[in-house]
Amino acid sequence: MADRLKQVVNHIFSSNMSSADPFEKKVNLGVGAYRDDNDKPWVLPVVRKAEQILLNTPSLDHEYLPITGLPEFTTAAAKLILGSDSNAIMEGRVTTVQTISGTGANHLGALFLERFYPWVGKKEIYLSDPTWANHQAIFKNVGITPINYPYYDPKTIGLDFNGFLNALKNAPNKSIFLIHACAHNPTGVDPSKEQWNAIADMMLEKGHYGFFDCAYQGFASGNLDNDAWAVREFVKRGVNMLVCQSFAKNAGLYGERVGALHVLSSSKEAADRVKSQLSVLQRSEISNPPTYGARIVNLILNDAELFEEWKRDIATMAGRIIDMRQQLYKVLTDELKTPGNWDHIVNQIGMFSFTGITPQQSQALVEKAHIYMTANGRISMTGLNGKNLRYFAGCLDKAVR
Ligand code: PMP
Repeated sequence: MADRLKQVVNHIFSSNMSSADPFEKKVNLGVGAYRDDNDKPWVLPVVRKAEQILLNTPSLDHEYLPITGLPEFTTAAAKLILGSDSNAIMEGRVTTVQTISGTGANHLGALFLERFYPWVGKKEIYLSDPTWANHQAIFKNVGITPINYPYYDPKTIGLDFNGFLNALKNAPNKSIFLIHACAHNPTGVDPSKEQWNAIADMMLEKGHYGFFDCAYQGFASGNLDNDAWAVREFVKRGVNMLVCQSFAKNAGLYGERVGALHVLSSSKEAADRVKSQLSVLQRSEISNPPTYGARIVNLILNDAELFEEWKRDIATMAGRIIDMRQQLYKVLTDELKTPGNWDHIVNQIGMFSFTGITPQQSQALVEKAHIYMTANGRISMTGLNGKNLRYFAGCLDKAVR
């Protein structure tokens, strides 16, 4: 716990320190949002177009949305993550509620399970070690105790697959496991398809429940369908689960708080009951979700041309991140001959990368080189660009020698 608190404080501190630092070559690798090659926030061109359409639609008013959200948005959001050919959707077994981005989806999902999950023993959830720091607080807030399951192996800077599988095996039947759908935060380490299949086998054998958190669909590989593969596969195979979805990263709508919670049920009747339970919870929490961001995403998801443009915008963001990974890898291995193995820089996925450097080395980078990152050695790849990559690689090289 103390470690986690330190991580969070360090994260906030490192971003603040970065903005206060007048050093010209400073690099902020603690940032949790996409930055373009000029280190600036990027409003997706497709979002600008959708905003124009909204501005030019005088019939839009500021009335409340239904409690469960903008219906065209929630329907399209479910198809986006579960697939437009999803049997679960066609059979009416999916309940979708619009939420306050991914955080709100996590919270509402946690609250829903706390109230309605058929708990056998203690109210506990298994979280990957490490995980997004907010997960701990979200579950504790609703009276569910977080337990860690092994996920990251510092020796290989990769997945501790056996540790993960053993945790699934040894947990009591019908336990709840939180699973990052793609682009694991903070490690950037995802299971392979083969490993996902083995995880699904074990979840089914043990009757576990999957709490899928999907904050980076499209952001990981640049392709929305590829990044939804694990979620869709688990749904197809009948794993009991829910999915938290965020449009913060893939639509660059961080501050607009657009997200959804999708709960899978075994029948349409059960899904209808879930809908009324979620409506009651949502009513007492936020009454109605906000309109603006949902209207933007609704336009993008439901207009074929805008949707194609969005896919290109996503590919631009993911492509730049992948390019930074490749360039960093090349400079470290080919040019600087930096000691150690740096394969993980290109193998890891999404916005974040666990560099594998020690807290002392990351502290040295902050203090001596004005390079800001979390103490656990996590860097945000979007903080790198054509202008600062070589400076960072050179400093990293010095720090590990
Ligand atoms: N889950 C994970 C794993 C995340 O990394 C994030 C964002 N950092 C979220 C959920 C929630 O983000 P938001 O509430 O901005 O959608």
